[in-house]
Amino acid sequence: MTVAYQLQSAGTHLSRTRIERRPLGPRDVQLDLKYCGICHSDLVAASDKLGGGMFPMVPGHEMVGLVSEVGTEVSGVSIGDAMGVGCIADSCRVCSSCESGDEHYCETGFTLSFNSKDRDGRANHGGYASDYVVDYDYLVPIPEGADLARMAPLLCGGITVYTPLKRFGVGPGTTLCVLGVGGLGHLAIQFASAMGARVLVASRSQAKRADAKRLGAELALDPDSDDVQAWLGQCDLILDTISNPHDLNQWFPLLRRGGKLCLLGVPTDQLSVFPALIVFGDRSLEGSLIGGIADTREMMQFAHTNGVAAEIELITPDEIEAAWHRLHDGDVQYRFVIDLEHLKDG
Ligand SMILES: [Zn+2]
Ligand SMILES: [Zn+2]
Repeated sequence: MTVAYQLQSAGTHLSRTRIERRPLGPRDVQLDLKYCGICHSDLVAASDKLGGGMFPMVPGHEMVGLVSEVGTEVSGVSIGDAMGVGCIADSCRVCSSCESGDEHYCETGFTLSFNSKDRDGRANHGGYASDYVVDYDYLVPIPEGADLARMAPLLCGGITVYTPLKRFGVGPGTTLCVLGVGGLGHLAIQFASAMGARVLVASRSQAKRADAKRLGAELALDPDSDDVQAWLGQCDLILDTISNPHDLNQWFPLLRRGGKLCLLGVPTDQLSVFPALIVFGDRSLEGSLIGGIADTREMMQFAHTNGVAAEIELITPDEIEAAWHRLHDGDVQYRFVIDLEHLKDG
């Protein structure tokens, strides 16, 4: 039996319980989980603000563990290998999105690693747990020597920022502006700097601006100051990681002709855009959602090679709820990670 932290219904407390994973199929791998990151979307799912929540729910989709069992048809995976699982636990594999490596846009709907049903219709419970069972095609190898706890948040937060950096060709000669220095923003700064881009950051917090520079940003601006004027027309891409309602119109003028503002945060309120800011500058508003399995594997390797890792606060499982409250208030440096090592003994 799996030890897990579960909510009985939307908005209730997490309680320690035992759940049953699906029996190990021929293509399945069991992971003995070591760490799980806490993503803002865990809170959204637990509150069921967007509807469709499946309860009882065990959240968690940034999990890292060691392979403890492999099915009969699994190849290339050995007991003891360090592996991660992000948001995607399965997909149809045959639609055009799956075939092109974009499982997260699977046309028949992909299986989330929690708050979802597996392809056989059983409830899929997430990574706030002692172990996990997943098809081996959806594993993300964690490079040898990597700090497992600091790599866990890359499985959702990391790939969320890596995908648009890759898609829009960020590298030497490009200038990127990151809005918001939080779970996503602090990773975007690191990845983009490692890719050779010039990174500009906007944050109202002086402490976060200092952190942004330490993480590789060339310049960190207070969005309310006049310093922003010097950057008009200078940026190729703006990554907007802010999940609260905010004014986009302030930022389009920073883009040069053809520049793009890409939303990564998902505010649940309407955002308004003054059309002239887009039309006259040949600019565009984009959105990007996590990334496919192949890109997630590539991102993990890139991160390890280039020393990119999440800045974390490691917590015990009984501190999850307190961490959720702090995360809700934006009080985290910069990602909570749950230490699951002794979950079974406790
Ligand atoms: Zn997430
Ligand atoms: Zn598909």
